[in-house]
Formats: sequence, C-alpha cells, structure tokens
Amino acid sequence: MGADVQFSRALLVEDEPALAAALKIALARLKIPEILHATTLADARKSIETSPCDLLILDRNLPDGDGLELCDELRKDGFRGTVLCLTAKGEPDDRVAGLDSGADDYLPKPFHWEELAARIRALSRRRDPEATRAITEPPKLWKLDSARLKILGPKGWVELTPLEFKLATHLIQAEGAIVSREELLKEVWGFRFLPKTRTTDYFLGRLRKYFETNPDEPRHFLTVRGAGYRFSAEPESNPPG
Ligand code: CA
Repeated sequence: MGADVQFSRALLVEDEPALAAALKIALARLKIPEILHATTLADARKSIETSPCDLLILDRNLPDGDGLELCDELRKDGFRGTVLCLTAKGEPDDRVAGLDSGADDYLPKPFHWEELAARIRALSRRRDPEATRAITEPPKLWKLDSARLKILGPKGWVELTPLEFKLATHLIQAEGAIVSREELLKEVWGFRFLPKTRTTDYFLGRLRKYFETNPDEPRHFLTVRGAGYRFSAEPESNPPG
C-alpha cells in the first residue's frame, strides 16, 4: 500500500534536530511537494501566516509552549488543514486533550515509521480539499482580523493600533464610496463638534505607509480632493481633481 498522499504543503513543528531531519525524509517519501519546518510555536505561527499548510505535524513539548495551544488557536481561526500530534506525551489524558484541541490524529513517540506513513495516508484520504485549494490560490486581500487588529494587504498582514484599525475598517467596508473627513471624525474619532484638523490626512498617511507599495502614489487609500477619501480593493490610480 503506497498511494501518494494529496497534501501539498506540510509544516513540521519539531525542536529535536535529529527527529526533525528524519521526519522530513519520511514526509518527502510520501511525495508531499513542500515541507516547511519550524522549531518553536512563534516560528510556526509566522510560517502559517505567510505560507498556509494543509498538513501540520505538531510536537507538544516546544521551547515556547505546548503545541496544542497552536492547534487550538488555529481551529478557532478556522484553520481547515489536517493536524497530526506527534509527541512523547502519550497518556490517555494527553491524547484526549490533543483530540479535543482539534488534532485529527495523535501518535505518541516512539512510533514506527511505517505507522506514521500509514496514518498520514489515512489522514490524506479524509482531508478537507478546501485546505489544499486555499494553498494554491492567492490569498484574498483586505481580510480583517478584529481580534488581533490585523489587516491583510498587498504587503502581507499588518498589525495596527486600535484607532488605525477602526479607520482602515471604516474605509474598507465602504469600499468604492467617498467617505468625508467629517464622517471619519464623527464615526472613528467620536467628535461631536468638528474641529479644523489635519488629523485624518495624517492617519491616512500612516495607512498608506502600511499598505501602499508607494505611499506617495496611493492606489488603494485614495484622496478625493474637496470630498474626502475612497478605498479601492483593486489598485487604482488617484483620480485627478
Ligand atoms: Ca520537543
């Protein structure tokens, strides 16, 4: 039995170098085209953010925490990839905790390599094809993560201050429509009486720095002279006048 698995990108989170090296070879034998490796939870988070995976092989004892934290976090975020926990913690209670935090399978160390391969093949048969599709498609831009105050723009995820996030969200949600300075001062800043201020211009400048390839020639956060601002999801040149 050696059918190839259908995963297209695996992330291996393992801090023991020798075991990680052996696991990479085992995953490559299963013909998984891309195998990424992280040694800490922080690295794994970064990796998933920039390069989503559809198979996550997760150790539990990591230098900066328990792998299950990551699993739990990813599932709450809607992660649809397959998670296999691989760990020295093999007591029934540990397995229960693993499965409850959203792992699809749990294999205690030490394990047989044949069993690992067979489990990954079995997981591949019942994987969520959406998770694989999401990897091959470019990410949809202007995703809002209000829990972490982050927005996915053309230059990747950007973390904003609460006020910047509120402003950006207001403009993004009004996509295509002109939003006046007065509206922003009322809705975002909560002013009841409108001061004469350059505040909105200043903050628009900050958003452009975060999201525009060339902040001096904005193509998303546009100024409409005499009227206010307009957000365009697709890059657009600033309209004259
Ligand atoms: Ca470990």
